[in-house]
Amino acid sequence: MTGFSLFVFGFSEAIFWVITTLNKSVNYTTFSPLRPGSRLEETEVFIDLVLVKRIGVLDIQGSVEEHFAALEDACKNLSSAGKGSKKYEAVLVKNISDLDGVSGLIIPGGESTTIGKLLRRFGLREEIIKRASKGDLAIWGTCAGAILIAKEIVGREQADSLGLMDISIERNAYGRQLDSFETSIEFDGIGKIPAIFIRAPLIKKVGKGVVVLAKNEGEIVAAREGKFLATTFHPEMTNDIGVHEYFVGMC
Ligand code: GLN
Repeated sequence: MTGFSLFVFGFSEAIFWVITTLNKSVNYTTFSPLRPGSRLEETEVFIDLVLVKRIGVLDIQGSVEEHFAALEDACKNLSSAGKGSKKYEAVLVKNISDLDGVSGLIIPGGESTTIGKLLRRFGLREEIIKRASKGDLAIWGTCAGAILIAKEIVGREQADSLGLMDISIERNAYGRQLDSFETSIEFDGIGKIPAIFIRAPLIKKVGKGVVVLAKNEGEIVAAREGKFLATTFHPEMTNDIGVHEYFVGMC
């Protein structure tokens, strides 16, 4: 290598370092600064920059695997749609360090009181509240997850909930006969999608800044407030990944 190519190489390394450092502070990861296998010519420096956004599934309890599979598919679709300049990656989040560099988090359905207690025990609760309140973390709560992100739970103490989204929600609102059922609903911006409700809650009231995205028989079943999304049903249990793609778009 001539002295000049060494200089060019050193210069490109320095640019990579600066970009990586900047990207870390905005939760991106940088890959492949130089095309693998490329010969560094004196006059050419290849900087092949790909920004990767990580989106997490809270891996504590409930429909984690189903969400992860659907999220992976959604990430793949949107990564190729972005013409390679932006990529999305699905990750599992179990503890605070997993949250590093994650720009969106899905809280799956399950049992809201259990997930809430474990969020506190694993030390995740405060960190999620801190980052989400700063607008630094998009959150999608499905079913139990929607209960956890609601600011108000009808008739309930909410010691372990996250209290982030301006909605009022009632747990197990469908009574015995309708405990669990499947139907299809019109989701604003996506179209008709299948919806599975399992001992679902009901969104009873929404605040001023909340947009209603879907209703079932007149009742609100999906809503969004800025970076927060709540669905009372389970899109991860169907083959339709429309809502997962919608959420990736929010991150
Ligand atoms: N009934 C559960 C709760 O109140 C939620 C059910 C679900 O997530 N499918 O936490």
